[in-house]
Amino acid sequence: MSDEKHIPFHHGSQYADWVERNCWRCWKYNEEDASKSCLIDQAIGACALLDKPLSDEMARRCGYLRENGTTNDNYTWKCPERESQEERDRKPREIIDHPNQIFMEI
Ligand code: SF4
Repeated sequence: MSDEKHIPFHHGSQYADWVERNCWRCWKYNEEDASKSCLIDQAIGACALLDKPLSDEMARRCGYLRENGTTNDNYTWKCPERESQEERDRKPREIIDHPNQIFMEI
């Protein structure tokens, strides 16, 4: 049974503002090719653009669904997994080929 049921954005402008606040400041975002962006971005994009509700997991990872089961009703809340290029660069000796796969350097 699917648990896809969360629709966090009331309209396209809210989605655009959320992406501007979060994804535009995050190295995991790929504006040119959504298939190379992080899984959260892919899920919220499909939610906002294709009316595909978020699963519990994606709603939690993007910060919309809190641990206590309530939802974040701020207009643009912070994505908990947002990471700037500078934060990524500070990580020691990691080679990151894709936002969803992290390989340690040998
Ligand atoms: S981790 Fe969050 S802020 Fe970064 S690209 Fe994914 S959804 Fe956007």
